[in-house]
Amino acid sequence: MARRKKIYEGKAKILYEGPEPGTFVQYFKDDATAFNAEKKATIDGKGVLNNRLSEFFMKGLTQIGIPNHFLKRLNMREQLIRQVEIIPLEVIVRNFAAGSMSTRLGLSEGTALPRPIVEFCLKDDKLGDPLVSEEHIIAFGWASQQDLDDMLALALRVNDFMSGVMLAVGIKLVDFKIEIGRVWENDFQRLIVADEISPDSCRLWDVETGQKLDKDVFRRDLGSLTDAYTEVARRLGVLPSNVTHATKPTLIN
Ligand code: UDP
Repeated sequence: MARRKKIYEGKAKILYEGPEPGTFVQYFKDDATAFNAEKKATIDGKGVLNNRLSEFFMKGLTQIGIPNHFLKRLNMREQLIRQVEIIPLEVIVRNFAAGSMSTRLGLSEGTALPRPIVEFCLKDDKLGDPLVSEEHIIAFGWASQQDLDDMLALALRVNDFMSGVMLAVGIKLVDFKIEIGRVWENDFQRLIVADEISPDSCRLWDVETGQKLDKDVFRRDLGSLTDAYTEVARRLGVLPSNVTHATKPTLIN
């Protein structure tokens, strides 16, 4: 088989050239990193779960008319996606204070925010993805005013969708990060949701117990990350049938 051309390798995913122009194959690795890659581990099964979960969320977005890069899942770890020009900003939406916002503003984790708050961070590992203002974004030309308006609208629509989907299975969407890319259709550009949506990039707390079901389990050494992501997948009904954490063989009738 001909070797595929690797386009880009990130911390948790690899992008390969796709079968058609304008497509990529996105491969989900088992690698987990935190604190700007100071903490690293390989977590068995994480890639498989995130491939499924990102597929589930992106398909849901498509169903309610929110444009995104997902085309189809190819196998356990790979999905076909649209090639986009990634805008070099992490778009974070917060419903409750946590993580860096709690530290920055002295708010205790879990404080409900008066409304969803959208923040932008510059995607730059060397600088530790610093928070930037809309002024910076426009002045340095990372995105235009129109892009910013479109990104805000997209982010808030994704937040409404994700909050509802999660609440339906007893999970509170505390915050999440998305990335947004440009696609060109004839002479027009359009912004679409790209990258991934998974427990790697969301904060998910059980509504009843407050148990963390996201990457904070890894960041803060709170137990098994695979178990947490499996629980999210199980509640959403997207657990692949061949991923099981059964400890003993099960009799099939
Ligand atoms: N996030 C992410 N990638 C990043 C930074 C943040 O996916 O490089 C997500 C993170 O999982 C959380 C949200 O964005 O759901 C807000 O993260 P925060 O700014 O609180 O950063 P952290 O405390 O994780 O450093």
